[in-house]
Amino acid sequence: MTVVLADILKGKRSVAISGHVRPDGDCVGACLGLYMYLLKEYPDLEVDVYLEEIPQAFHILDKVEEIKHQIPVKNPYDLFICLDCGDKSRLGFSETLYEQAGHTVCIDHHISNQAFADENYIVPDASSTSELIYTLLDKEKITGPIAEALYMGIVHDTGVFQYSCTSPSTMEIGAELLRKGINGSKIIDQTYYEKTYIQNQLLGKALLESFLILDKQCIVAVLEKKDLVFFEAEASDTEGIVSQLRLTKGVEVALFMYEVETHLYKVSLRSKEKVDVSVIAKFFGGGGHARAAGATITGTKYDVINQVTEQISFQIGKESK
Ligand code: 5GP
Ligand code: MN
Repeated sequence: MTVVLADILKGKRSVAISGHVRPDGDCVGACLGLYMYLLKEYPDLEVDVYLEEIPQAFHILDKVEEIKHQIPVKNPYDLFICLDCGDKSRLGFSETLYEQAGHTVCIDHHISNQAFADENYIVPDASSTSELIYTLLDKEKITGPIAEALYMGIVHDTGVFQYSCTSPSTMEIGAELLRKGINGSKIIDQTYYEKTYIQNQLLGKALLESFLILDKQCIVAVLEKKDLVFFEAEASDTEGIVSQLRLTKGVEVALFMYEVETHLYKVSLRSKEKVDVSVIAKFFGGGGHARAAGATITGTKYDVINQVTEQISFQIGKESK
């Protein structure tokens, strides 16, 4: 069921907005887009946005400097709006605010979302949470900076209007946002394609050491903690590696993983047409979408590769029968 902003805000004096850990483009775009809209349209409301540190490239958006990275000592919020977050534990540090809030609302597009909040607006077919946020706003009241944030979110979750989640309405919303006078190509270039030297080095290493398995239908690449340390890289510098792996001709599934800490791997999965990677991610306690999903898995790198590829093989096997 859809939510109506005016209804969920009725009688509320304070609102916290938050999204998932390791915030990506859609998460940041949706949170900041909604934040700026509420600041402007509901001046009497106390609104705060909570996210972990966000990648440097997203700092081109307005109001990024107002994002809070720690929970405050204050009374609980009347309302907590959870965006782009498939399960409660993925809120990370802001989960405490969620638990304390008077009322909770979740707006999301993850098929794995179990509708955990008091009110839920979950549309798995939507390209992005930013697209969903757009549909909830009064179009006349969307300013340039709000449009920039939402456009960035849609760009990131659609791989620049390319992945199969891109629907005709995604394109129409993209067009409406461009009509607000924003510089769409600058947003795409500076937040999506541009890589730092370190990011390109990491990408190069991952590609060079990648290997094909499951009859060349699956490509795997691993970066260990020592690699990230060597390149003085942050975890967010690995963003985009899995998308590049997925482009490999003939491959159905791309598996990229990096070591978060000893024997703990963040795993990213992408597929082209057949394999539902959200099922695999969910099996390991993670989640996501049919064509893009992830999980955090314990074990040595060989344990993790073996376990995940076994699950992939079940689906590839099924498909090839
Ligand atoms: P990525 O591979 O880029 O980290 O994530 C791909 C998609 O899967 C994103 O939509 C992301 O939110 C979701 N995802 C990634 N890791 C996890 C996880 O550990 N748990 C859940 N529920 N979703 C995840
Ligand atoms: Mn998203």
